[in-house]
Amino acid sequence: MRKLIELEGIGSKTSRLLEKLDIYSDLDLITYYPKRYDFLKRTDMNSIKDKDRVVIDGIVEGGPIVSQVRPKLKKIMFRISNGIGIYNVCVYNQIYLLKELKVGINVIVIGKYDKFKNLINGIEVRKGRLPKSIIIEPVYGMTEGLNKKVISKVIDEVLNSNINIIDYIPDYLINRYHFIDKISAIREIHHPSSEINFRRAKQRLKYEEFFLYLAKIRYLKYVNNNISGNNKVFDNRLVDEFINDLSFELTFDQKKVIDEIRIDMVSSKQMNRLVQGDVGSGKTIVAFIAGYMNYLAGYQTALMVPTEILASQHYQSALELFKNTDMEVVLLTSSLTKKRRNDILKRINNGEIHFIIGTQSLIQEDVNYKNLGLIIADEQHRFGVNQRNLLKSKGIVPDVLSMSATPIPRTYALTIYGDMDVSSIKTKPKGRIEVSTLVRREKDILEVLKLMKIEIDKGHQVYVVAPAIENDDEDSLNNVMKLKEKMELAFGKICEIGCVHGKLDNDEKSRIMSRFESGEVKILISTTVIEVGVNVPNASMIVIFKANLFGLSTLHQLRGRVGRGSIKSYCILLSKEYCDRLDIMKETNDGFVISEYDFKNRGEGDLFGVRQSGEAEFKLADIRRDFDLLVRVKEDVDEFFIKEDVLKYRSFIN
Ligand code: ADP
Ligand code: MG
Repeated sequence: MRKLIELEGIGSKTSRLLEKLDIYSDLDLITYYPKRYDFLKRTDMNSIKDKDRVVIDGIVEGGPIVSQVRPKLKKIMFRISNGIGIYNVCVYNQIYLLKELKVGINVIVIGKYDKFKNLINGIEVRKGRLPKSIIIEPVYGMTEGLNKKVISKVIDEVLNSNINIIDYIPDYLINRYHFIDKISAIREIHHPSSEINFRRAKQRLKYEEFFLYLAKIRYLKYVNNNISGNNKVFDNRLVDEFINDLSFELTFDQKKVIDEIRIDMVSSKQMNRLVQGDVGSGKTIVAFIAGYMNYLAGYQTALMVPTEILASQHYQSALELFKNTDMEVVLLTSSLTKKRRNDILKRINNGEIHFIIGTQSLIQEDVNYKNLGLIIADEQHRFGVNQRNLLKSKGIVPDVLSMSATPIPRTYALTIYGDMDVSSIKTKPKGRIEVSTLVRREKDILEVLKLMKIEIDKGHQVYVVAPAIENDDEDSLNNVMKLKEKMELAFGKICEIGCVHGKLDNDEKSRIMSRFESGEVKILISTTVIEVGVNVPNASMIVIFKANLFGLSTLHQLRGRVGRGSIKSYCILLSKEYCDRLDIMKETNDGFVISEYDFKNRGEGDLFGVRQSGEAEFKLADIRRDFDLLVRVKEDVDEFFIKEDVLKYRSFIN
């Protein structure tokens, strides 16, 4: 494996940009698979309609002429002819084209056709001619500042070099399934040669992803069964008192799970338990009680959550919950001053602090615990096997408790989380009013705006969710930026509207979020990936645009953002065309049922949603869609370890 800077053509600037995409080595580069493909086929100009995408080649006839449209915006116009007609082309800002666009040369133009002006709004212009067959080009997920040609080029360079990669599939299985070699398979994913070859390559790589994952889990389970943890000693009566002092009665399942955790903690075996339950089922209190037991036993607890916002919410709850105890709770985030941070680190190190709440930084950074005895990972599916393991190495055989709000049925959980014991919270706290779900078409948007207005007039708040941040689609209902404009038009006069998405920096995000939490911002527009688990009880409606693009489990999770208080709440799912799958959402509010449906109807992708369990492990495979394959691989892995020593996979855990 080589680091980025050791590769030809990658300077420090490019490598920094690639790191933003989690690419650190040549291996990361070639397994940075295309997010989709572009099919370039010559457009039939005789049947083209206005605003159609056009792919055309021809000879430059006239031009280019440059004009300044605005400061910083230059327009280049030229003409091409292809034997059928002559077309005007305009492109913006690609000034380097001026040198290349000589009259008489062949060019390929990709853009959008304006029939009435006979004009192609060019997005891309290249030298050369289109071949007879379709060109399939990989399209990669990008980050700002990175040129898409650069990323293709560096990936291709590594693919064409002599790269040495480990194949995790044992030879006899490669033979059994007639798998092609790994590097050829990876090449095929970047540059498909035919549909059948592409499918075979993909299947092979997915198989390997599952194989490695299950082998690691197998290894972890082996380790868990063979080392002894701390059998913690604490006074059960204090725990019961603490529970009795809560302002509410725990549900049946909460009590059951707390008992399971209690047994794990006092046993000499290391706890490795997953607690799954719907949003709002009350997992946090269970985790906190586990933290309290751990504290009574004399150990520190680290609570790790995916976002800083979630961390500070948990911090507030913890302060309130533990106010009558001597437990010291801190929030460790990136926004602390250096001095304060050092002070906290020191107090963690000398054991003055008992309960530490933070993001992944709890494991990545230089945090040294005195005696870490319990690690709680909230929204567990955000952390991969490797991370879970890294965190464990921070303590002396600490217990590990993972929380997941994307519950999955038990049979599936056993395959997927083979290294963990699984507890489920199915009963809901008393007095919850079910969220009502409405499914509407986009043409009914006015009705939806009226419903939003009713909530806002009542002083309630509304979430609006869209799949994308921004794009140049005509379709204005799929992205946060355009929706912001629309919402401003509709509600700008009566209330404040906020907008959060992955491109904002943390400070800005927190600022907007706290204005939403305090009720100043009434409408919050966002994408889905961020801020799962946010708790604003005054929010009574969530409107999800392009709902058909999301998996049901993701929709269910989003729906869980409302109905957290005592006010009647609504979830409105919007799609352009009627989509029968969405009707399931009207029928049930039970995450286990919805997840079962998602598993049974595999193939429905989850294009933009919160990725499902184990996301960090898989680049091509998808646990739901490829569940049959996963079951097959599990059998093969079981068979493999009858013959082989499980310790063989130790080195793959890092
Ligand atoms: P999640 O499972 O999504 O993490 P939380 O733990 O955040 O859910 O719980 C949601 C809300 O329900 C919190 O305000 C919490 O205090 C409250 N809650 C938890 N358990 C109960 C209970 N047994 N009875 C009433 N309210 C509860
Ligand atoms: Mg939670």
